[in-house]
Amino acid sequence: MHELLRYQLKKIGYREGELTELQLKKLFHVVSKAYHTADENRKLWEDMLEISSKGMQVLYKTLKDNSRNKLAYSEEKYNRLISNLQPYYFFYTKNADGKFISVSESVKEMLGYTHDEFIEHCSDIFMNEIALDSSKRFIRPKDGRPYELKIQHKNGSMRYLELTEFPILNTEGKIESIEGILRDVTDQVKTRKKISDMLHFDALTGISNRLHLEILMEKMLFDNYSKENRFALLFLDLDHFKHINDTLGHDIGDNLLQLIAEGVAQSLREDDIFARVGGDEFIIILNDLKSINLTLAIHRIMELVRRPWMVRNYELRISASMGIALYPDDGTNSIDLMKNADIAMYQSKNLGRDNFTFFKEEFNVSVHTEMKLIQDMSSALDKKEFLLYFQPKVLLSTNEIVSSEALIRWDHPELGLILPDKFIILAENTGFILKLGRWIIEEACQAIVRFNKVDSHKKLKLAVNISIRQFQHENMYHILEKAIEDAGLDGNQLQIELTESIMMENNREMAYKLKQIKSLNIGIALDDFGTGYSTLSYLDKLSIDALKIDKAFVDAIPKDGTQNILLDTIIAMGKTLHMSVIAEGVEHEYQRQYLLKKGCDVYQGYLFSKPLSEQEYIHCIQI
Ligand code: C2E
Ligand code: CA
Ligand code: CA
Repeated sequence: MHELLRYQLKKIGYREGELTELQLKKLFHVVSKAYHTADENRKLWEDMLEISSKGMQVLYKTLKDNSRNKLAYSEEKYNRLISNLQPYYFFYTKNADGKFISVSESVKEMLGYTHDEFIEHCSDIFMNEIALDSSKRFIRPKDGRPYELKIQHKNGSMRYLELTEFPILNTEGKIESIEGILRDVTDQVKTRKKISDMLHFDALTGISNRLHLEILMEKMLFDNYSKENRFALLFLDLDHFKHINDTLGHDIGDNLLQLIAEGVAQSLREDDIFARVGGDEFIIILNDLKSINLTLAIHRIMELVRRPWMVRNYELRISASMGIALYPDDGTNSIDLMKNADIAMYQSKNLGRDNFTFFKEEFNVSVHTEMKLIQDMSSALDKKEFLLYFQPKVLLSTNEIVSSEALIRWDHPELGLILPDKFIILAENTGFILKLGRWIIEEACQAIVRFNKVDSHKKLKLAVNISIRQFQHENMYHILEKAIEDAGLDGNQLQIELTESIMMENNREMAYKLKQIKSLNIGIALDDFGTGYSTLSYLDKLSIDALKIDKAFVDAIPKDGTQNILLDTIIAMGKTLHMSVIAEGVEHEYQRQYLLKKGCDVYQGYLFSKPLSEQEYIHCIQI
């Protein structure tokens, strides 16, 4: 029996047995009512279904319309964007094997090829370019980072492109195709290169600058860190370059630097490094020492610098002082190597320039003592540690003392008697020479007074050495005037000795200064004559009384009595200009004989006497 019928029967109170008429009537009634309710429910359901499906339809329609509009909108936006981006961009699609399937038309504008030409001829170039360029990362599609590559335009010019690729994956997550965007970044690359050049290269000469040198060296040290891979660092400093700048002007100086840099650069191998690290300072790194003769290579560079350089209408000659540090012996990092090469270079300068010196550990020791001397120097004057020695100057014809030269000594409490070669240059570099120089002049004048007391008739002259630095920075006229005045002397008992390098200064100014000094009756001698770079043309215009021929010429006097034409010429020139000619460093009798014969006036040297202490000198002139 249907559940519902059993339920209605129960409702009318029917039990097993016969059905009464009343019960039957009631049954019809409830069943009919149940049918009604069911009908109503079904109707309600049907209505509801109809309503909801209609709503869905509307909703669907709205949604559909909306999304279609949006798609159209973004498509349009996309197209607009793409057309604006051309010709700076082009797009392509490759299949999973990396073969180009399509490229956008803008390829024509960017690389000069049509769509078909590109697909046919250029895809290989692209692939090769990427594969060949092993120094850069090969950008796998999934990586999505931009990658730069250099491609030749159909017209032959080089274009730099930035490439970005995106993989398109299928439902299984495998690469179906690759979408790529290429952007023309030629201008950016060029600007970037310009900036990098400005940062890394010297604007004047075009060779590396210090920063670039340091970067290259760090890289080299990192790559080459092994004892077998030796290299040499050459520190090259031009000699007296300032003189060219000062006398001929900065333009000429700059041109000369350019020519030298170009010449040296051409003589180097491709792997060598060449940088300008200061005004006239260069660093050269010669790589792979196994494959070259280092000394020969250095000689070649020195010779190259020495050759005449034509700048405008001037034929210029210059030399270089060089210091060499070897990797790894003299340093394993760039700082030590440069410092040690620099120290060695200074050694070359001290040895008289136009020289090269290999670094030695003992130079570091000397740097140490130099530091100590510099420190001690400033108080040494107050402690009266400086003193003057006197070396007689003798008339060649009569062997009679006519004057002497004051030569400074430092009686150091720990280091003993120090010769000027060890400390004058330090005093010059620190500026202490000004104070020391004044003291020397005052002391020399006082010494003359003491000598005069010993021998009141002779009125022997005394010469003092004046450093060029002093001459540049001080008013020598005032200092000298005051010194002779304080001592109550006549100027003609005092002489000054200036090295030839004063001739490199501004001529007119120098001529004026010398004339002023001359007006005090003070004698002026040109020291170390013949070694420098004198321009003889204005020798006669400077108020010079005496030429002191450098010891090197005296040393060169032949023992066998043959001629030394250079020396003869200098003596003759001095005579012609009415100057007194003095030969220094005369150690042997045959030298004295030769000088006498050639008409030299005065000599000075160990042959007659070494520099003497004041007491010794006084004793000497008393006899
Ligand atoms: P200089 O002016 O050329 O002095 C001559 C040097 O030659 C002196 O050396 C002298 O002792 C040395 N000498 C003289 N005769 C002979 C010789 O026959 N044989 C040899 N081998 N040498 C000889 P010193 O005293 O060591 O002076 C060296 C340099 O130091 C001087 O060269 C001068 O440039 C500088 N100097 C010395 N005293 C002073 C000073 O008071 N002021 C300045 N600014 N420089 C000074
Ligand atoms: Ca001298
Ligand atoms: Ca000299």
